[in-house]
Amino acid sequence: MDRDHPTNHNRLLNSLDLATNQFIDQNTKSLDRWRNARKVMPGGNTRTVLHYDPFPITMKKGEGTYLESLDGNQYTDFLGEYSAGLYGHSHPKIKEAINTAVQEGLSLGAPNRWEVLLAETICSRFESIDQVRFTNSGTEANLMALGAAKAYTNREKIMVFEGGYHGGVLYFKSGPSPVNAPYQFISLPYNDIEATISAIRENSEDLAAVLIEPMLGSGGCIPAKKDFLLAIREETEKFNICLIFDEVMTSRNSSGGLQKLLGIHPDLTTLGKYLGGGASFGAFGGKLEIMDLWDPTKPNFLAHAGTFNNNTLSMAAGFAGFSEIFTPDVAKNLFNIGENFKFSLNDICVRNSINMQVTGAGSILGIHIGTEEIYQSQTYREGDINRLKLVHLEMLNRGFFFAQRGYVTLNIAMVQMDIESFLDAFEDVLVSYSEIF
Ligand SMILES: *Cc1c(COP(=O)(O)O)cnc(C)c1O
Repeated sequence: MDRDHPTNHNRLLNSLDLATNQFIDQNTKSLDRWRNARKVMPGGNTRTVLHYDPFPITMKKGEGTYLESLDGNQYTDFLGEYSAGLYGHSHPKIKEAINTAVQEGLSLGAPNRWEVLLAETICSRFESIDQVRFTNSGTEANLMALGAAKAYTNREKIMVFEGGYHGGVLYFKSGPSPVNAPYQFISLPYNDIEATISAIRENSEDLAAVLIEPMLGSGGCIPAKKDFLLAIREETEKFNICLIFDEVMTSRNSSGGLQKLLGIHPDLTTLGKYLGGGASFGAFGGKLEIMDLWDPTKPNFLAHAGTFNNNTLSMAAGFAGFSEIFTPDVAKNLFNIGENFKFSLNDICVRNSINMQVTGAGSILGIHIGTEEIYQSQTYREGDINRLKLVHLEMLNRGFFFAQRGYVTLNIAMVQMDIESFLDAFEDVLVSYSEIF
């Protein structure tokens, strides 16, 4: 039967109602908290992505890969704080690093003993990063990288891609946002080699930077085609345009980022999320001749401010996590576990003739409606948005936590059982609703 036949449409809405009611029954304390929050924060929210329908579950604590909600329900954490939660919750080595930092003083107003250790580790693992600087967020890291590119090239325009996300003020999902920083952006369709190359050529005299995620993260976990990135690398090199890889999300895909797997070296790279060990973090780094612009011992240096840029919590937790826990072997292993997980999820869809697929790279995955190959960010019709909502609520009601838009990550605290339980529940949900998917 046609998926959009009125009978199926009604079934979908009825199923969504039932799942929503069950969700509400399981989360009455979260509902109360959300109602109170709405009085003092717009929509009860202080970070847009944490809102979902009908209301977000309030979490009380996390241990390993498990979360406990205000209502006392336990969830296996397949959201992993949008990839920042790589280490799971309360890893003993990170706890220890943070305790040491707290005991030795939080805000010293001077360089501390952690920052150079973390910088050394980053520069040694990322081949394209000669030098690095720290910020408080990935957003800031991207803003600083763009500033460096503008100063280095003495040009103004920035090329970005539809579906790209580089922070709250660099958001290119559905047309220009009034919240975006006022750069002269040129936006191109992702994975479109021809359009991109001709736009680079047309604007070659004015382009300071091409800013791109080697996989659209927030835009649906859609990997860039290698040819697409290679063509951009070649063209930007020709015209001295800074190529910036935003690896805030994807850098966990190998010991040296997704760029290492691709074998492509950008001029600048931005980092964030898990690299702060769970504390607020961002970093930008790259070629010596560009990073050198920030050297305060040189004349006419660029100023890079930020009270908490080298805060001891982020530096100590970040260093402990990156150097002691997320070793190159662990990175490789997690990538392979993620690829196998993606394969198994897709196998479930194929075996049961479900009109869904899972995209992504390594431990960062996106669940999508539809079976045709996806190479650009999608805009769903209402029926498909409801299908994703239904999967999300049914999985939550079974104790699996991830984002309503279908965003899933793995973390290193997970064991095979956690992954197998997810696969079983996912198949159970899809099969029980197979007629409406
Ligand atoms: C999360 C993210 C950012 C923004 O990082 P914040 O620390 O939230 O500011 C930038 N780029 C990408 C690709 C991200 O996933």
